[in-house]
Amino acid sequence: HNPEIGSGTRTRAIMEAYGLTFKKSLGQNFLTDLNILNKIVTAAEVSDADDVIEIGPGIGALTEQLAKAAHQVVALEIDERLIPVLGETLADYHNITVLHGDILATDLSALIAEHFDGQHPVKIVANLPYYITTPIVLHLLDEEADFASITVMMQKEVAERLTAHPGTKDYGSLTVGVAYSTDSEIAFTVPKTVFVPSPKVDSAIVSMKKKAANAYQPKNEVNFKRLVRGSFMHKRKSLWNNLLGFYGKDENIKSKLTLALKAAEIEPGIRAERLTVGDFVRLSDCLEDQGL
Ligand code: SAM
Repeated sequence: HNPEIGSGTRTRAIMEAYGLTFKKSLGQNFLTDLNILNKIVTAAEVSDADDVIEIGPGIGALTEQLAKAAHQVVALEIDERLIPVLGETLADYHNITVLHGDILATDLSALIAEHFDGQHPVKIVANLPYYITTPIVLHLLDEEADFASITVMMQKEVAERLTAHPGTKDYGSLTVGVAYSTDSEIAFTVPKTVFVPSPKVDSAIVSMKKKAANAYQPKNEVNFKRLVRGSFMHKRKSLWNNLLGFYGKDENIKSKLTLALKAAEIEPGIRAERLTVGDFVRLSDCLEDQGL
């Protein structure tokens, strides 16, 4: 009987048996700590009532623990060398499907419809490749896909930005984007020493639970998102100066901006980092009313 994949000895044995090297370019830092792996499964609140999508299974350390807890697991791995390895390391589990692909090019709704029965909440769980953490989170949040939560490991600095509160230095357009559709928090932090190879930075698990679909309903979602990005364009400038840079500086626009800010009850002189998601939605709607 083999020890679990997430143990240091088994990971080394698998890497050796298949002659595998870690691909730095794919963010391959594998977890070799069963305690942390199980803490991730617990933080994700995965039970046999849930289906799970795992991004980047590597050699299957987290996949194995997820399979023990979940109804069905679909694991999507970009590195084709690992596909046959996963076929063998996870052979004992009959509730795992391994797919070869790039998460950024994957239509999650289609994946969910194809592989799950629609009777179980879908939870996304991963030890993310750090070089594309932000694009992956944005891709997941952008999707209309019907999933319940995202619980993922990332670099601690990025975790702090995703979960920041208004008025702090870490608060930015990424934070507002996350808070628009989820309630997020750092579940726990993780030292570099539990990975092989050890990354340069400490890590944290962020849990993001989908808000109800009608939590925020801006009149125009595309313009709302543009407003958020535009407001944080130059973080040290005032909201007013960012808005002028974004919408234009002529008198007609200035007066529309003034009216919109007044209607939304927002001080033009403040910085965007002071605004909550609700403030941005209100301002976006008032700008819409002014035809901006
Ligand atoms: N889950 C394993 C663990 O915890 O030990 C491996 C985690 S490792 C940090 C990230 C994994 O994501 C690697 O296996 C890597 O090959 C894979 N990966 C990198 N880019 C990817 C992408 N665009 N789509 C899917 N998987 C990707």
